[in-house]
Amino acid sequence: MDNLKTIENIISKVDSSKTRGFYLSQNLIKDDCSCEDCKFYQDKFIKYSLDIFKTLDGCGVDLRKNINDEPTGVWVVCEEDKLVHCEPAYRLIGDFKDINEDVFKLINGNYNLTMQVFKNDNSFITIYLTFDKIE
Ligand SMILES: [Zn+2]
Repeated sequence: MDNLKTIENIISKVDSSKTRGFYLSQNLIKDDCSCEDCKFYQDKFIKYSLDIFKTLDGCGVDLRKNINDEPTGVWVVCEEDKLVHCEPAYRLIGDFKDINEDVFKLINGNYNLTMQVFKNDNSFITIYLTFDKIE
């Protein structure tokens, strides 16, 4: 299976209303860290037109929020007002018993995107994203 098909398969197992409900209890990234880089991530980067953000938003993820068991903000590296690297993590709630942990590499806009799927449980997974700007 290619990467996109595998991701579509994961997305098809998500319960978007439960995921939306989970995010109601999570902190905003800027509540967990007051640094300029987290501010840039929450206020600007998540508004970039990237497929992964549209997909996660459609799954009920609140992109402005941190998951509370990773409460340290988002690791972001900016150079001259451009984000060159960041590592956010998001949680999806659903039925993932047929999903395996995996790592995918994709291109989204001007970024190489690595997506690591970590299975916490059959009922929730954490997606660790790494964005690296393509020079
Ligand atoms: Zn920060």
